[in-house]
Amino acid sequence: METTNTGWTSFNLNKQLLQAVEQSGFEKPTEIQQKCIPPINSGQHVIGIAQTGTGKTAAYVIPTLLKLRFHQDAGVRAIILAPTKELVVQIADHTRQLAAFTDIKIACLYGGIGPKSQIEEIKSGADLVVATPGRMMEIYLKGELPTKKIQTLIIDEADRMMDMNFMPQLRKIFEVIPHKRQNLLFSATFSERVEKLSGEFLDFPLKIEATPQATAARQVSQYQIAVPNFKTKINLLVHLLHDPEFSRVILFTRTRQAADDISKYIDRIDAGPVRAIHSNKGQNARINAIREFAEGNLRIIVATDVASRGIDIEKVTHVINFDVPIIYDDYVHRIGRTGRAAEKGISITMVTPADNYHIQKIESLIKEKIKPMKMPSAVEIEPTSFAESQEMARAIDIQKHRENP
Ligand code: AMP
Repeated sequence: METTNTGWTSFNLNKQLLQAVEQSGFEKPTEIQQKCIPPINSGQHVIGIAQTGTGKTAAYVIPTLLKLRFHQDAGVRAIILAPTKELVVQIADHTRQLAAFTDIKIACLYGGIGPKSQIEEIKSGADLVVATPGRMMEIYLKGELPTKKIQTLIIDEADRMMDMNFMPQLRKIFEVIPHKRQNLLFSATFSERVEKLSGEFLDFPLKIEATPQATAARQVSQYQIAVPNFKTKINLLVHLLHDPEFSRVILFTRTRQAADDISKYIDRIDAGPVRAIHSNKGQNARINAIREFAEGNLRIIVATDVASRGIDIEKVTHVINFDVPIIYDDYVHRIGRTGRAAEKGISITMVTPADNYHIQKIESLIKEKIKPMKMPSAVEIEPTSFAESQEMARAIDIQKHRENP
């Protein structure tokens, strides 16, 4: 087959997969794909350190589909585990896109809805399952998930899995699937806990890093802006949203309450359409919001970290950190929402006096400086309330004490 994907032809992919990458518009493999596909094809265990936006999903899905080749009635042969429903749905969508020219069947298992239709999907002959660990075990324990033929296990977003305490569930899963299999682990960061997990289930893995660990996506121009207090943050937000360039925005808050409040406010001033996503929202509401956003029918998503992890949406123009994340890895994940694969993006982080400490920590993690941006003169600076200044002073005290006990 004539193909413009010269880079792709070096992987000995079959015609169906070449057709799918071409149809997806993937002109050439990304760095992580370039580095991971050959060793995975040769059967090695691989640890891939890459954040979302690097093309890491396709880096493990393409070789897995190549190994599965076509649909067989043998039962489930490959499993991809991911920490949240949203991610499972997204990975399954991506996998279906890459499997479009094959007859490989994919089932998607996650909680929040009854397992019946998911069991039906497995029964109708799934070759590959994408699942959250909890739902996978639940269905296994009902005797509805044949595991004997599993030859490939993939764990994606391993760092988030560890943050969410999935270790005990993962250990149970390792026990009920065949020992002889290929193991692949992907994670945005290689934290101590991820290292421990990889030590438990990967023998002699090949560790591959796309961008150096925890370095922020290079296509993202990162800015920070000093803001004295909450009310001024709101004024600044309103000012930023006057700019039509902010056409597809993800705004991050630390708490669910703040996510709800800010999304209601944006709605009230008609700067939306907007939706909030966080773990208190129903499963369908979250998935629908992400779909609407991906389709371009929402201008803004307001999210907390857990709800947003790994969400892959193209052409996000801006990420606004309304609050600085205090889990520093989350910064990398947040700004990774923009500037994906070949796009450019902008991130703006609002920094209160109590956040300077965290910003320094983040800068040393990402090994670069976040450019300071001047407060636009049109933004009204509000006085800081007594309660808020007390709270910030307390936070700064704790930080000082932590640095110098
Ligand atoms: P991921 O890092 O897996 O979340 O992928 C991020 C985005 O990059 C997804 O929207 C993919 O469709 C896209 N993508 C994956 N591989 C390529 C490629 N080789 N060229 C261009 N875009 C890609």
